[in-house]
Amino acid sequence: MDPRADAIIDRLGGATGLHWFRAPGRVNLIGDHTDYHDGFVLPMAVDRDCVVAARPRVDGRVTVRSVEVSGEVDVAADGSDDPAAVEPAWGRYVAGVVRALGSAGRTPAGLDAVLSSTVPVGSGLSSSAALEVAIALALTDAAGFAFPPAELARACQRGEHLATGVPSGVMDQLVALLGRAGHAVLIDCRTLSAEPITLPDALAVLVVDSGLTRTLADSAYAERRADGERVAARLGVPALRDAPLDVVRNEPRARHVVAENQRVLEFADALRAGDDARLGSLLLASHASLRDDYEVSTPQLDLAVGLLVEHGAIGARLTGAGFGGCVVGLVPGDDVAAVASRTVADYRAQSGLDAEAFEVRAVDGAGPLTAPVGA
Ligand code: ADP
Ligand code: MG
Repeated sequence: MDPRADAIIDRLGGATGLHWFRAPGRVNLIGDHTDYHDGFVLPMAVDRDCVVAARPRVDGRVTVRSVEVSGEVDVAADGSDDPAAVEPAWGRYVAGVVRALGSAGRTPAGLDAVLSSTVPVGSGLSSSAALEVAIALALTDAAGFAFPPAELARACQRGEHLATGVPSGVMDQLVALLGRAGHAVLIDCRTLSAEPITLPDALAVLVVDSGLTRTLADSAYAERRADGERVAARLGVPALRDAPLDVVRNEPRARHVVAENQRVLEFADALRAGDDARLGSLLLASHASLRDDYEVSTPQLDLAVGLLVEHGAIGARLTGAGFGGCVVGLVPGDDVAAVASRTVADYRAQSGLDAEAFEVRAVDGAGPLTAPVGA
């Protein structure tokens, strides 16, 4: 039984009538700042997740509590609460999803829910998408709606926009829904088609949380997105995904997006071919491009990438939006513990920051859970 179940059941006053759901966090192996330019990404769902249990309510209210964060969220199921104004602040994600589902013609029914998440908060493994998707599953279940994954992901993405004002892409929500154990997922962010790609058994996926809080991330994210959209408009293409590389050769931001799309496809090919050397060099090229062309790295992230490689990763890169958060490396399975401990020790000595390194495994995407034993 999941150790979180007791805490959840306790807060809901017993196990009777509860419906359970889970949604995982994710790490993106390659393809950052491409999703909102209609491009390609290759994330995997990870073995850290948000679990939620919910029971229907008849009064049209959606009430949610978190085991980890205090406060009770209480919003109208009809979406009439402005998500950006909800308190406690984490409830904005709940209110955003409620409103977005309503706008998509799927007005939620009331429910009383408690969630608990093992996805680290604010470090780039997408605890927000895990929360949105878990709540969205509970809401659509309570209202008796089936919702195809791509539409549910879009609704959760819109919910995040309403909650935060940040025009983020759809990758996080989609992989939270479509992850597959042992696989990364190649996503075309224009069509939302998703293809699972087998991960090699011999390589571990090591995440290093830099301990650096993402500060400038939100405003810089919106700026980067607008920059790229301006270039696409000037070139007369629907999105940067459609720009040929030679046309954007002298425009670093656009060049990153176009070249990164290419790297994602090559990385998927290298996974299929078992070409580890190619995987490593693509990871490093992606990091260099995010650092030099897209300018979303920091000295600390560069340091963590360098140390991972120095200590035995075949390649590494920052993952997620940048400006702090996590880096990811591929490491020969037998070496994971040594690479992790040496990287963390050297990182602390050279940056003064406490990093945390942990292996993640690719898991299945979100869905209902059978009630925990004893419930
Ligand atoms: P990331 O998605 O990279 O973890 P974000 O800043 O996008 O970082 O999302 C983090 C936010 O998600 C938190 O500040 C909080 O509002 C919400 N959140 C995540 N996990 C929980 C949780 N267990 N309980 C309540 N809120 C959570
Ligand atoms: Mg997030």
